[in-house]
Amino acid sequence: MVVIEKQRQCRCGAVYHRTEAMAPSREIDSFECVACGVTLEKWDTAWVPTYRLISVPSAEPDADGARRPDAACKTIPPQRS
Ligand SMILES: [Zn+2]
Repeated sequence: MVVIEKQRQCRCGAVYHRTEAMAPSREIDSFECVACGVTLEKWDTAWVPTYRLISVPSAEPDADGARRPDAACKTIPPQRS
């Protein structure tokens, strides 16, 4: 059986060990990051990925939110007069 292995990092900082292997039949599924819930991958094929969590983000997203650049970008100043 052929297996492809590589690492994949989520935008939240969680790192996964990802393997791909041929399943007996086609599968329709998806994988969501266990740390932030974002969908990392969807598939509709017999070539099915498996994710194994290697490391989680060290900082708490909520406690660290004020220092994150993307959080600052989402802060929209009041437009109403
Ligand atoms: Zn994540």
